Amino acid sequence: MPDLLNPDDAVSRILNVIAPLDDERVTLSDALDRVLAAPVVSEIDLPPFANSSMDGFAVRAGDTLGAAADAPRRLSVVMDIPAGSAPAGTIEAGSAARIMTGAPLPQGADAVVPVEDTDQSWRGGDSSPLPGDIAVFRQVRAGDSVRPIGEDIRAGQTLIAAGVVLRPQELGALAAIGCAEVPVVRRPRVAIVSTGDELVEVDQPLAPGKIRDSNSITLAGLIRRCGGEPLRLPIARDTLEDVRARFLTALGLLPDMILSSAGVSVGAFDVVRAVLEELGEIGFWRVNLRPGKPLAFGALGARRVPFFGLPGNPVSAMVTFDVFVRPALLKMSRRSDAVPTVQAVVDEPIRSDGRRSYLRAFLTRQADGWHARLTGTQSSGALMSMVLADGLLIVPEGVTDVPVGATLPVRVLKDISGV
Ligand code: AMP
Ligand code: MG
Repeated sequence: MPDLLNPDDAVSRILNVIAPLDDERVTLSDALDRVLAAPVVSEIDLPPFANSSMDGFAVRAGDTLGAAADAPRRLSVVMDIPAGSAPAGTIEAGSAARIMTGAPLPQGADAVVPVEDTDQSWRGGDSSPLPGDIAVFRQVRAGDSVRPIGEDIRAGQTLIAAGVVLRPQELGALAAIGCAEVPVVRRPRVAIVSTGDELVEVDQPLAPGKIRDSNSITLAGLIRRCGGEPLRLPIARDTLEDVRARFLTALGLLPDMILSSAGVSVGAFDVVRAVLEELGEIGFWRVNLRPGKPLAFGALGARRVPFFGLPGNPVSAMVTFDVFVRPALLKMSRRSDAVPTVQAVVDEPIRSDGRRSYLRAFLTRQADGWHARLTGTQSSGALMSMVLADGLLIVPEGVTDVPVGATLPVRVLKDISGV
């Protein structure tokens, strides 16, 4: 099939014209799932001071030498160090300071004896009266129950690299070093246009010949999953005026990308194509891909907004999004996430038509690794096949017969971390 465009070449052509977005600054509370735009270097050590990891007594380790339950060492308590205080004074030989978890270690002390290893208990909290002296029942070594300065993070250390998608744990680390605002990559704003006289909005009753517009909802979800901000427009009827008006509204939103579904297949009612040619430079591609052969790609409007015209069939729209739009959104977002893929042994014979095929499959984990079975109908209109599928089994281009026992890649769709 020489006239079909190789899917990898199609992705390369697309990525060639997609430019990464610029930065914006957000506060940490708005930074979850955002892409860090520049590396963050810590200006401080963390912890900023040596501190106790236990409630107990700060001591000189040497003073506890040989301490045991039947041979306690007695130390006089000269200081009380609650968390948040800054101790003045030095622990001399034979003395100790009561200290709480997280409180700074005083001068002279080099270890902490947990309260459980003494004759003290302060179940009532650190407001119990300071004892005059204590019995220590266990020997400690220098450094025991002490978190040294800079143990966690060193001043000058690069904490998080550019391109990382910020998770709660990164936000915590940024908060700890006092980074109240972070530079992140702007989220791609993606306008979505559904076209078709047969479509009604999801909250509208069906009439004869009508179906509900599911693509714009699916696409909005996929866009969010890629870190983008979807902007759904009302359904465009199959008239020149309506389709043109909808695309002009989309351009007016100053989006970073525009997606439409339906109306780009060969033989489809030609209004979408006519409007696209009027508003921009669009290539109508026939990609060596199943489902999802027809794909329109190009630029719309004076700002040359990247545009994808996806097929109307729901599964085709999802697969073409995954193969073509997702990499574009990740490039815009300066993300480099790999597509989660596993190798699986095929448990049933599969026939393919020689196009690269994405087949809905169940995955099971067996002793020798992953196994794949098709979910049943591979109709590109079957929404439930995508609901049921654990993954998309990829039959490479040029392959028509896949025997039982062959190993093929599966693009994983569901969380299999616990399987
Ligand atoms: P088309 O690309 O216009 O030939 O449409 C292909 C198939 O996809 C037809 O069965 C359409 O009814 C269906 N379709 C088109 N747009 C949507 C949509 N937004 N939601 C669900 N199905 C759609
Ligand atoms: Mg149509």
